[in-house]
Amino acid sequence: MALVVQKYGGTSVGSIERIHRVADRVAQTQREGHRIVVVLSAMSGETDRLVKMAYEATQAPDEREMDMLLSTGERITIALLAMELRGRGLNARSYTGRQVGIITDNAHTKARIARVSADRIREAIDEGVIPVVAGFQGINERSDVTTLGRGGSDLSAVALAAALKADRCIIFTDVDGVYTADPNIVPAAKRIERISYEEMLEMASLGAKVLQTRSVEFAAKFGVPVEVNSSFKEGKGTLVTKEDADMEAVAVAGVTGDRNQAKITIVGVPDKPGVAAQIFGTVAKSHINVDMIIQNISHTAMTDLSFTVPRADLKKAVPIIEAVAKDIDAKSVEVVESIAKVSLIGVGMRSHSGVAAQMFDVLSHEGINIMMISTSEIKISCVIEEKYLELAMRALHTAFGLDREQ
Ligand code: ADP
Ligand code: ASP
Ligand code: MG
Repeated sequence: MALVVQKYGGTSVGSIERIHRVADRVAQTQREGHRIVVVLSAMSGETDRLVKMAYEATQAPDEREMDMLLSTGERITIALLAMELRGRGLNARSYTGRQVGIITDNAHTKARIARVSADRIREAIDEGVIPVVAGFQGINERSDVTTLGRGGSDLSAVALAAALKADRCIIFTDVDGVYTADPNIVPAAKRIERISYEEMLEMASLGAKVLQTRSVEFAAKFGVPVEVNSSFKEGKGTLVTKEDADMEAVAVAGVTGDRNQAKITIVGVPDKPGVAAQIFGTVAKSHINVDMIIQNISHTAMTDLSFTVPRADLKKAVPIIEAVAKDIDAKSVEVVESIAKVSLIGVGMRSHSGVAAQMFDVLSHEGINIMMISTSEIKISCVIEEKYLELAMRALHTAFGLDREQ
């Protein structure tokens, strides 16, 4: 008898009809003799709706209140599923993040999990109950509600699977696995049978939202094998697991695109020691993640410094950057929102050379200008104009031999 954590995403619980289907699958898993813990997202569109309402109420919503608001979405779905299961005579019970003991730090709207006590869940399972847990939420040490960043229900599922030493953690979503590129953008994309934690981590952080980045980080750290599969049809999915020799055979495993970035340039920065530390130290204190950074050489004791930040943090970042720019006597601050990042990912890059050169060649063939480049051992990213993102993804997917045979 296995212990299985099943997580259902927003689309999979997007209507009462779909919640019926989730209940069917849960009932089926129990009939097969397994013990189950269910983790749910809010109905698709609900979290966006709540965020929008918050910004209608006020320009810069307080983050503690934001979490209080956002955590309501998952309460709705867990109660509905638990009701439905109980109506069928199954012993299900819904639990909030607080009730299952998901304890986080205090970084509201993107809190990190500090520990998971899960005692109540263990007791429930022992009593034969099917726990239906609200994803995406936890509490800090002061018992204030926190949320785990967008897509955070994946992390709730992985963290519970680790705490309970579950045999399987299945992320049910609207695609039947992790693809070589977002199948909604690149129709020729193929399902990947097995992908390493490391590649999945890069793919997620570079734009493949099929799994939340932190959930992959957590899974890798605690060795939780994660399966991604469709909640709509039966069949094989993708296993996210430890790297093996086969995975190195191909240079590029996947292509991703990320529109959630914006470029900030501080113009006329005095070129002297300590300035970068001052700028990025201030930004880091506000919990804003800076990604790519480019500093030009200076010809006049002044330089321009460009970097990217998540677009969602732009409203918060700009006044902070403008204040630092003033402190360091820089000339001005410029913001460009219409950028995107296209990336190639693969552990095979360690042993295959020339991937970067080929990538630049493909982009230049399409007439796409590269604004910024960053590389690591297993990925190459280019910042380009946002309007060319889909074209770039498709062209790279084809050029690196990833297209499905039609
Ligand atoms: P859920 O609501 O179930 O959490 P998400 O919308 O967060 O679902 O994630 C699933 C979506 O991720 C898919 O519909 C797909 O468009 C997108 N996606 C992006 N990149 C990939 C990829 N490489 N493979 C599969 N899906 C991807
Ligand atoms: N409901 C949250 C979101 O939309 C969490 C999740 O779906 O994983 O980001
Ligand atoms: Mg998701």
